[in-house]
Amino acid sequence: MLLISCPWCGPRDEAEFHYGGQAHLPYPEDPAALTDEEWARYLFFRDNPKGPFAERWSHTAGCRKWFNAIRNTATNEILAIYKTDEPRPQTRGRA
Ligand SMILES: [Zn+2]
Repeated sequence: MLLISCPWCGPRDEAEFHYGGQAHLPYPEDPAALTDEEWARYLFFRDNPKGPFAERWSHTAGCRKWFNAIRNTATNEILAIYKTDEPRPQTRGRA
């Protein structure tokens, strides 16, 4: 079982968390100006790296706050956890 360390609550079982997908995806400045293909790419296309990946998590069974984690998708090891208003920490590799 994976332990995830909520920035506010500390280490908790992964069953208390909800995965929120890729982190650091800025909302388009002018969505109405996008083509259907560009809008679909924003909505549905995500990176899928083997290795470190920045992703959003919510502590749904606890404080219900969102935060970011960098998880190695090959080993499931969590390399860093940080609040959404903090910059991405440096880790080996990048995705
Ligand atoms: Zn929490």
